[in-house]
Amino acid sequence: LYGEHRRNSQGCNLADSRVRRQFQQNLAELAYKQHQAVPLISGTAYTGRTQAIIAPYDRSEVVGEVVNSNPQAIVDALDAAASAFNDWRLYLVEQRAGCLFKAADLMEQQRMELVALSVREGGRTIKDALAEVREAVDFCRYYAVSALELFRYPINLPGPTGEENNLRYYGRGIFVCISPWNFPIAIFVGQVAAALAAGNTVIAKPAESTTLTAMACVRILHQAGIPESVLQFLPGKGSEIGSQLLQDSRIAGVAFTGSTATAHRINRELAGHPVIVPFVAETGGQNFMIADTSAHKEQLVQDVILSAFNSAGQRCSALRVLFLPEETADKIVELVVGAIQQLRIGNPGDYATDIGPVINRAALERLEQHVEHMRTHGNVIFQLPPFVDATGCYKGNYFSPTLIEINDLKYLQEEVFGPILHVIRYSSSNLDAVIDTVNATGYGLTLGIHSRIQSTINKIQQQVRVGNIYINRNMIGAVVGVQPFGGMGLSGTGPKAGGPDYLRRFAVEQTVTNNI
Ligand code: GLU
Repeated sequence: LYGEHRRNSQGCNLADSRVRRQFQQNLAELAYKQHQAVPLISGTAYTGRTQAIIAPYDRSEVVGEVVNSNPQAIVDALDAAASAFNDWRLYLVEQRAGCLFKAADLMEQQRMELVALSVREGGRTIKDALAEVREAVDFCRYYAVSALELFRYPINLPGPTGEENNLRYYGRGIFVCISPWNFPIAIFVGQVAAALAAGNTVIAKPAESTTLTAMACVRILHQAGIPESVLQFLPGKGSEIGSQLLQDSRIAGVAFTGSTATAHRINRELAGHPVIVPFVAETGGQNFMIADTSAHKEQLVQDVILSAFNSAGQRCSALRVLFLPEETADKIVELVVGAIQQLRIGNPGDYATDIGPVINRAALERLEQHVEHMRTHGNVIFQLPPFVDATGCYKGNYFSPTLIEINDLKYLQEEVFGPILHVIRYSSSNLDAVIDTVNATGYGLTLGIHSRIQSTINKIQQQVRVGNIYINRNMIGAVVGVQPFGGMGLSGTGPKAGGPDYLRRFAVEQTVTNNI
């Protein structure tokens, strides 16, 4: 019925040098623009003390400034979202969906601004940023179509006694959307679009490091017709605004993507509410790829490199541990080292860059400490030389792709969120132990399998408890409506983002029985 809207967004041909030149030129024009993000409540921009946002690739570059939300802004946002809900829940679903279709079109039109901003603020490479705009566009269209399918007409149910029965969906109330910095466009927009499509009002709390990009997305949603009173924007530190926001009894739901530890903190806040508050959490992972001796080596290596190092490893779906059979491990490690040497680490605004910086200095230091630790407890096989720019300076949070062999997972209790790949050798007769190791982490986000033996593939697929399995390909970049994304266990609550069940979690059901 809504087929023409359910197309995924189209890319552009980056193989064409004219397209690339145009991109670089557009980016150069936007390179010095200063941005500002402020609490935005019912369209009113709040003022206050500002804080600078620094580019991850150059600590001397200020991208813009942010005004954090104070306690009064939080109260005002809650009041505004609560009163706007009374009208918004009764808006026709066609109107809500219409705004999201419009927002998708506007995001495509304003693609360059969003790309430029997320490159500068989030250190995203051009290719990553472009893919992310497409994902955001897909989320808007997908949830708009989902809302039309689910909510447009009441579902008629049997009425054997002559009564008329039907089931309707409504928004729950105020949804708080808390988004991460690693997908400042796609995940921010995806959460907000889902909550709005289902008829909720939204308080969006963006990641601190990527507030400017989130603000640009909010502006687009408002421009697309989402009433300003329906979508509130509350920038700030989670530690400062989280409790006040989450303890308010008017909160009807929370959508969160971020670390498992933060998800636990949010869950504890919500546990204090008299009403059980729905919580949609997408959290961390400890993601593996299992290769067997039948794996096609060149294909494996290509998929390993993309899975482990794309987005500088800053994806919750990224590959962290590669299981290699003893028989072929030496050869594959050699090929992986060769492939890492081909990677270009550098300024994310250069089209040729494969690996940009990590988000901030703290993230960089955590990665450095991990490698230091592994020099004693593992075998650091290879690390690309440190990146220095053309002037010989080292100005950004660059961490070079690193390959480490370990023989035990005990050194990986925490998610290592960056371009570090670990390798473990296993004996082919011991696949069961490998599967047990995967399940024993308690995480369950993504898993890669490289094998040409169907029975091995089936066995692993059936026994591992992970949300997204990728066979004989890379294991990142889930596509909206094609590979619904989200994990199990410590990796999240579901339902999967970009999947058919997501919107239902944002809605309440009402059964109406009418004895006509
Ligand atoms: N959906 C993204 C992917 O498939 C990962 C999202 C995340 O890192 O939170 O790669």
